[in-house]
Amino acid sequence: MALTVYTVLQTAMTRSKTVAAGRKRHGATEPAAPRRAGAAGWSTSRAARVTILRAQALEELPWLVHGFSTRPGGSSLLDGARVLNLGPTEWDTSEAVEANRTAFLEALGNRHARRACPPWRGGLVRLRQQHTDVIHRVDTAPGGALRGDALLTRSPELLLAVQTADCVPILLADRRRRAVAAVHAGWRGTLARIAQKTLGRMKMEFDTRAEDVVAAFGPAIGGCCYEVGPEVAQAFAAQFAEAREWFEGPFERLVGGEDPAPFPWLSLTPPGHDAPAPRVRLDLRAANRRQLEAAGVPPQQIISSALCTACRTDLLFSHRRERGRTGRLMAVIGISV
Ligand SMILES: [Zn+2]
Repeated sequence: MALTVYTVLQTAMTRSKTVAAGRKRHGATEPAAPRRAGAAGWSTSRAARVTILRAQALEELPWLVHGFSTRPGGSSLLDGARVLNLGPTEWDTSEAVEANRTAFLEALGNRHARRACPPWRGGLVRLRQQHTDVIHRVDTAPGGALRGDALLTRSPELLLAVQTADCVPILLADRRRRAVAAVHAGWRGTLARIAQKTLGRMKMEFDTRAEDVVAAFGPAIGGCCYEVGPEVAQAFAAQFAEAREWFEGPFERLVGGEDPAPFPWLSLTPPGHDAPAPRVRLDLRAANRRQLEAAGVPPQQIISSALCTACRTDLLFSHRRERGRTGRLMAVIGISV
């Protein structure tokens, strides 16, 4: 895997340099600026049918490479459509996933080739994600995927990756110390404060100061769609004083453990059929934003995508909306010089 990625990136680099040199000779300017993603603070770029979303605040850092993948394009076939599935799933082949990763990294490398040297010799660092608060500092390429949910590094040889299909992908960059991190935060990870703990680990390992950190939250299931039950509401209420702000719906009722249907004979529910339990909707990105702000990251340095995976299955993958039959998005970050 590492070798494949390295080869691809080397190829992308060489090709891009040739193209750039050719352009210079003919007096042409740099490639066109990326199109706007329709949201403030974000841009999109497209290369070889692969569309990548980027946070402009991270793009501005000349030593940094990052990107969030999207659904269209790719070699995987899902219900008749070509998709860029970047993680193992039961409906896809490992060959297709590998080809998609190559295409994604090639698109990423093309864009940043002028800066990326050497291009992540150690290759892509991946996680076997488990909804924990386990964080790994990596300095050299590990043998395989690491068990855990966050990665951090200062090594320019590595490209850190997290995979999602509703959970929040979080990329962190320390502008002063040139350190980066990638975090996977679903509701369990958010509850375990994985974003805040990753920042704490950066402080410990790299002397990172919160005021130097830029954070980008990629596409994830939004507060519009992410329905959860009493167990999640209660867990958040027990852990965060401000939890109410991140929920829509009868939060207090769920937290209070009230019987959802105290008088079933009033609800006209047929005998033997309980009324559905009330649900609330959770905004995971808001909860993670608060964690980073509480740790001292300036609010204007936290950039959050407005894209909801469940609302936009044309562009993204949603485990919830597609009932598990979907692909995986990938968010990557690395140091390019
Ligand atoms: Zn939505």
